[in-house]
Amino acid sequence: MTKDLQVNKLYSFLAILYLLGIFLYVTFGAYSFGNLSDWVLGYALIGATLVLIHYQIVLPPEGNSLSMDSAIYLACVFVFGVKIALTVLLFSNIIYFIYSRRDAWWAQWLNFSTYTVMIVGSHLAFIGLGGTVGEIDHTNVVPYIGALTSYFFINVLLIGLFFFLARRIRLLDAFKGVTEGVVESYLSTLLLSIILSFLLQTAPFFGLILFTSISVLLSYAFKHHFTLYQEVSNKANKDHLTGLNNHGYFKEILESTLDEVKQTDEVVSLAMIDIDDFKKYNDSHGHLQGDRLLTFFGQMLEETCREKEYVIARYGGEEFVILMRQTSEQDAARFIDCFRKQVNDTYFDGVELLPYGCLSFSAGIAGYSKDITSLSEFLSHADQAMYYAKSQGKNNTHIFGDEINVINLDQQIEELEQQLQLFLGKDIYTYRHSKRVYKYAVEFSKLLSLKDSEKKTFILGALIHDIGKLEVPRHVINKKEKLTKEEWEMIKKHVIWGRDIVAANKKLAPLVPLVELHHERYDGRGYPHGLKGEEIPKLARILCIVDSFDAMTTERPYQKTKSYQEALCELELCAGTQFDPDYVKPFKQYIENKYLLYEDTNIS
Ligand code: GH3
Ligand code: MG
Ligand code: MG
Repeated sequence: MTKDLQVNKLYSFLAILYLLGIFLYVTFGAYSFGNLSDWVLGYALIGATLVLIHYQIVLPPEGNSLSMDSAIYLACVFVFGVKIALTVLLFSNIIYFIYSRRDAWWAQWLNFSTYTVMIVGSHLAFIGLGGTVGEIDHTNVVPYIGALTSYFFINVLLIGLFFFLARRIRLLDAFKGVTEGVVESYLSTLLLSIILSFLLQTAPFFGLILFTSISVLLSYAFKHHFTLYQEVSNKANKDHLTGLNNHGYFKEILESTLDEVKQTDEVVSLAMIDIDDFKKYNDSHGHLQGDRLLTFFGQMLEETCREKEYVIARYGGEEFVILMRQTSEQDAARFIDCFRKQVNDTYFDGVELLPYGCLSFSAGIAGYSKDITSLSEFLSHADQAMYYAKSQGKNNTHIFGDEINVINLDQQIEELEQQLQLFLGKDIYTYRHSKRVYKYAVEFSKLLSLKDSEKKTFILGALIHDIGKLEVPRHVINKKEKLTKEEWEMIKKHVIWGRDIVAANKKLAPLVPLVELHHERYDGRGYPHGLKGEEIPKLARILCIVDSFDAMTTERPYQKTKSYQEALCELELCAGTQFDPDYVKPFKQYIENKYLLYEDTNIS
């Protein structure tokens, strides 16, 4: 949905409310104090409403504020009737708009229209359920409850709809957002309207003053509590040295952002920044001066990111992170490079002894994509890119995935092959299988539109995917008879053992998802986690097809070997259940073109 369309929808929504307002006006006659015998009381009600609008009740955690004026409108509906309630609303809103000017006119108008609909809705419910205006006693209990309920639900419905249209979030989430954490307080305000009704009936002025004073005092008490809450949560979420968000809080924000972004096409980038040669600075000038530099750097970063509303945090010692919403990797890199130059050009005591003669940092950028299944994977991309930037001589910025052309694939394959050779004396089948899957991966990856970095990950992952089988005892791995349930469970653990082996080597971090998740099934019935569909990273879904194809077409005890043709039929049969159908198709084409066009021969 484009922004224009969104704005149009918003205006249509406002227009409907506007029409509704006119309709109500026509239906119920002019706003006036009509049948209120004491005009002074009318002004007092408006005055009290204004006081309550001003002294709102602030609620943690977000600082949402709750206004008690609803209690006055509802009490008016019960004691004096709907016209008086609407008149109090109209005049207090006009006066508030003139003196506060805090909100835009349309927001004020939306607010007024919403209240109008709520008041009329609760009035209709009150009358509809047999309530009598002016008779405040227990016989009206059902109409009271009906009126309060309809007031509450109309409010949730209208405000929820507004957020749904304005912020493009799911309708259910919008309703949840409106009610989260405020239901009890809101309901108490509504119930207070009944108490106010009693007061207005027996001692109108004294009752109104009493009610307003209690509300103002409550507002102060809540404000005080909210300040305390903020102080405590600041301590928990902020880094004590720089005042920026801390590691834990950043992860919380990142997680909720990714949850939100998953549903949309928003581009999001993450930057990991590490100050260069900070240890040298510390060693020469002392830890305290090092702390000053960190604080100074944090302030610069904050000032630079403020305008774009990027979320920043101190991630570790001299590491900082930036979450950049609505920013592509390229834009993120440009932004960071600009900041880097600014940092280079800014003098701070003692930086002249650093290798570049100035303060500098290395940064890694990672772009979010739907293939990224976890927070740690996203962070790890940025981290790897940052280490790569360091390896390129520091004081530069690198985007994750752009390194293939300079990294020597052959050398890495050689290193992994050495690990694979361990299978030679223990499990020759897995050794040969890994080599064949690797060969398919090299050939098949050329036909897929993968980024260079993805190709490389896929090929290396294919070679090493079964490395965890090294941990399976010899007698189980080489058993010729059918495996027992326990033995089968042990074999299944190879993905977890493999993940641990590969994760121990930082350089191999990108291969972890392939090793861990190549036995997950598209329908969610695989192992180790039972991930489903696109929750499984793309490369692991492709590897699952290649791996299974080789398993089907090679000789194993207790399993009939399939011909290539039969194996392809099986893949097609299981497309959509075991395998991702989008990749079964091109894989079939590849095998047919490469191995079946002229003769039906298996490679070995
Ligand atoms: P590189 O360019 O490779 O990043 O080198 P470096 O020296 O910046 O990185 P290294 O990880 O070797 O050293 C980081 C130093 O940061 C070591 C540690 O003493 C220092 N450090 C971590 N936290 C703090 C802190 O809160 N205050 C101070 N003053 N120093 C810190
Ligand atoms: Mg560091
Ligand atoms: Mg450093």
